[in-house]
Amino acid sequence: MSMWQAEVRVDLDAIRDNVATLRAGTTAEVMAVVKADGYGHGMLPSARAALAGGATWLGVATLDEALTLRREGITAPVLAWLLAPGLPLHEGVAADVDLNAGSLAQLGELVTAARRAGRPTRTHLKIDTGLARGGATPADWPALLEAAAKAQADGEIDVVGVWSHFVYADSPGHETVDHQLAVFAEGLATAEQFGIEPRYRHIANSAATLTRPDAHYDLVRPGVAIYGLSPLPREHQTGLRPAMTARARVTLTKRVPAGQGVSYGHAYYTSRETTLALVPLGYGDGVPRHASNVGPVSLGGRTRTIAGRVCMDQIILDCGDDPVAAGDVAVLFGPGDNGTPTATDWADAIDTINYEIVTRFGGSRVPRVYDGTAGLPAEPPTAAATDVSQSVGEVGGLEPLPSGSAVGASDVLPSGRAAGTSDVSPSDGAMGATARSSSGGAVGATAVSPSGVAVGGSEALPSGSAVTASDVLLSGRGAGASDVLPGGAGSGGADLGARGAFGSGRDGGVLPAEASGGEGA
Ligand SMILES: *Cc1c(COP(=O)(O)O)cnc(C)c1O
Repeated sequence: MSMWQAEVRVDLDAIRDNVATLRAGTTAEVMAVVKADGYGHGMLPSARAALAGGATWLGVATLDEALTLRREGITAPVLAWLLAPGLPLHEGVAADVDLNAGSLAQLGELVTAARRAGRPTRTHLKIDTGLARGGATPADWPALLEAAAKAQADGEIDVVGVWSHFVYADSPGHETVDHQLAVFAEGLATAEQFGIEPRYRHIANSAATLTRPDAHYDLVRPGVAIYGLSPLPREHQTGLRPAMTARARVTLTKRVPAGQGVSYGHAYYTSRETTLALVPLGYGDGVPRHASNVGPVSLGGRTRTIAGRVCMDQIILDCGDDPVAAGDVAVLFGPGDNGTPTATDWADAIDTINYEIVTRFGGSRVPRVYDGTAGLPAEPPTAAATDVSQSVGEVGGLEPLPSGSAVGASDVLPSGRAAGTSDVSPSDGAMGATARSSSGGAVGATAVSPSGVAVGGSEALPSGSAVTASDVLLSGRGAGASDVLPGGAGSGGADLGARGAFGSGRDGGVLPAEASGGEGA
């Protein structure tokens, strides 16, 4: 009896490999952008996998995100760039977080924070080269530089970077790219006149990292690309592998006659007698409601289109006479192996960008389960083996999964995001993805009850890895938090574990290029 109903699987090795691919293509350092819960992939596991792939910086939007990374023991440089007035920026300074200033007011806050923290604020000065979002306009830039030069002379800030962000780099050759690069170069020259010569000049997002080496400068800031998604039109080959898979087991099938209206509003009618399959993922989980009647879902070896409206908890597929059955696995999107849909296919279907598709699944009720070992400690696990069931079953045309290899919401450890879990090594923490290790390297399955209290399973954990109720509550996802900590997938469990489920395509090499729907994050 399998334990999961719907899940988001995240391939940490893919994130690592994607970062390595990007890094191989540049002489610049790589700042992996892990904002918004790592674009839905989980901020901390994604950050660790990215660092394992050669990223030397992490980028986030908010101070809270940066402080969470620090709290979890990440020591790599971190830049946080989206800062409202009045935040406790001194906490960021004390935690060695780099902060952005794009106006005199923001610079003033950084100076105040430095005084409170008793040390200079590591500062990145942002020039708005055309996006009209963050940063000082070219007109306001000299005044910001003058104030920054003074604050630096006074020991209140340390200008680590000068930076900007592209409008339209996902449309290679777009005139704005060259224009922004010219404005950026000019802004750097002006900075030099004020005696500001930063160690890090940076402007390249994923798209520019992939297409514009002349924009790499000292540091590139890829986000979506580290998760294996391309911001570029489909014809661009990227060699990246999508890390996220969203899938669910059919809960019920039924035969209905021709002319049957399906789901709310009967926005779909069957054209013949047919089998309907109910898939337990809905807009409450991250499936866009706009995917009604257009979202692609793979089931029973074929890609089908959602029949009728997306509900809060489920979607319905019209499967004709195909032999689909309850328990079969429906894949909404994944790496695209065997023609299954990708997040980019979903984005195209509903006129959005793949960024939004994956990010929507962050923080949802769907358990997030990690595959792979990237970013996890190398030491073998020390815990005793758990009593995970060894029964193996065929799952909806995918490779056999051990029943213990997938987990439900009540069997999962909150991710490393939970406060106080930073000392829980993933290899001795709970793990659903790789259920057991034939070499004796055990992977425990910590159970967290829906009430958020760690229950059972403790015999399967080394001391120190137990999760307390307050850890769960502090994780920000509340009781029943549904991340599964990456586990010691390396020690022999690969044949039965996570890789069994998704590994078949890993040797597929370069994946088809992905397309974009427009602007980035
Ligand atoms: C989100 C973001 C990035 C990453 O953008 P991608 O298009 O995902 O590579 C880089 N820099 C800034 C300022 C961002 O907000």
